[in-house]
Amino acid sequence: MDLSDEDFLLKYSNLAQGEGVSSHPLRLSVDQEATKNWSASLLLRVVIDRQVNQDDLVEQLLRAWRMTSQVVFSQKGYNLFLVDFYSVQDANLVFNGGPWTYRTAPIAVARVSGPQDINADHITHVELWVQMHSNFIESISQPDALNLASQIGTPVSLPSITFSAGAKYYRTRISVPIRGQIRDKHPVSHPTVGNFLVFFVYERIKKACVFCKNLGHEYSFCQDWARFSRLMVQSKCKQITGDQVSPFNLGP
Ligand SMILES: [Zn+2]
Repeated sequence: MDLSDEDFLLKYSNLAQGEGVSSHPLRLSVDQEATKNWSASLLLRVVIDRQVNQDDLVEQLLRAWRMTSQVVFSQKGYNLFLVDFYSVQDANLVFNGGPWTYRTAPIAVARVSGPQDINADHITHVELWVQMHSNFIESISQPDALNLASQIGTPVSLPSITFSAGAKYYRTRISVPIRGQIRDKHPVSHPTVGNFLVFFVYERIKKACVFCKNLGHEYSFCQDWARFSRLMVQSKCKQITGDQVSPFNLGP
């Protein structure tokens, strides 16, 4: 029996939409790669120790970026995305408009000059707004504040005194290594005030661990911290056991 036109269309509509079949990633041909304008592309790395939901990420970012032209996301690795913008101007707006975050996780953004740059190793730093707080903030000069900022990364703006919610602090944008340099405080020694602490606050970021000093998770979720505390407990147990089995004082 012949299908009606309507049924016939229905039969093949899924095929046209590609439903039920996961999209097959295509590579650009050598010619296309040679002529592609890489200035209109950016590489994004979401710095978080769990796989992000791409649809949610795209939705959040498009809302934050307020793009009116087409933006195409392609996943290139673990939390790593190549973003192709409609124009170089759009890419520049996003590159210069950060730092961006995704649900309290920082997003590192890098320019790419070709396929060789599309890997996680291409992004080792992320720019963050950092506040520096202290009871003695008035005693810290701008050059000293810059020097303090360089303890956690490479400052990309001069620290400036900021007033907010009754607090006075230095604020600066810093390119921070994703691994190994996060800290929440730094001791300083002042010729007249003496020794005191300067505290670092990472704006809109929760995924920063001051124990292992990596970005991507909070202190309370740190696997190194969990292992360290487990070993400490074990070593204390050994110490107690050791005391119990050494009742004799040897010697003359
Ligand atoms: Zn950690």
